[in-house]
Amino acid sequence: MKILLAQPRGFCAGVERAIDIVVRALIKYGPPVYVRHEIVHNKRVVEELRAQGAVFVDELDEVPAGAITIFSAHGVAKLVERDAGDRGLEVIDATCPLVAKVHMEGQRYARNKHEIVLIGHQGHAEVIGTLGQIDGPTHLVGSVADVERLEVGDPDRLAYVTQTTLSVDDTRDIIAALNRRFPSIKGPDVRDICYATQNRQEAVRHLARRCDVLLVIGAQNSSNSNRLREIGAEMNVPSYLIDDATCLDPAWLEGTRMVGVTAGASAPEALVNELIDRLRELGAEGVEMLDGLVENVQFKLPSQVRNVQRPAA
Ligand code: SF4
Repeated sequence: MKILLAQPRGFCAGVERAIDIVVRALIKYGPPVYVRHEIVHNKRVVEELRAQGAVFVDELDEVPAGAITIFSAHGVAKLVERDAGDRGLEVIDATCPLVAKVHMEGQRYARNKHEIVLIGHQGHAEVIGTLGQIDGPTHLVGSVADVERLEVGDPDRLAYVTQTTLSVDDTRDIIAALNRRFPSIKGPDVRDICYATQNRQEAVRHLARRCDVLLVIGAQNSSNSNRLREIGAEMNVPSYLIDDATCLDPAWLEGTRMVGVTAGASAPEALVNELIDRLRELGAEGVEMLDGLVENVQFKLPSQVRNVQRPAA
């Protein structure tokens, strides 16, 4: 059995930035710093930051007045921002700039008196934040069937935005359905699905063509990781989304000659290395990395932590 690795895989620039913000805030202010929700959807990342003094909370009323509070990469509703202001919390916003861009697009349409259609998954942290950032009527759709059922006030004043981590293919079908039902609907100038989601989806497609089994490292609540597994399954490759190497069931590998490995945008490379070690224990011999894009996207840090020096790794 051989191991094939997707390229690119794992951390995106938004996740790197969010983790960096927490680490720098801990250096600058000292523990504890409070983080609303998981900073990114990954247990290992959360545990490591917790060990350094980050305290993860579900809601702001768990944060003592005046404490340093970080918003996660998924973004928050305006109500949460106002609540933080009312409680006198010092906020550092780790919302990914690409998510913030969707908020701004939605707001721009709302200011121009458009109703908004948000394409996304109900209950996902990013979707909750985006719905709460747009001041105006907003409809959430997650499928072509939702589009067919959609009722709007004025079909000539309608615009859509999307969650950043959806499947490129699913979104294409939903947008086509929106255009069919509402021919004057406006959309973003550039697609909202982020570069990291698109690149990882393209890479997993390339990987799935060559492997018998696909393993995706990522959290069950990570939207972009779920999409990677779905793409493998759609290509008729048995595909599994696992938190880490301990979740691997050796029975999945029976008769496998080529096992494909990738990781969602919030999964650290250490988890990939642990999975490779486990696959070697189970008889895997060579590791090959597929050719693919090398990403060099970097986002600016918030001013509060920009000049904090991190000790050399
Ligand atoms: S997956 Fe995309 S939108 Fe989400 S944090 Fe990463 S770069 Fe930002």
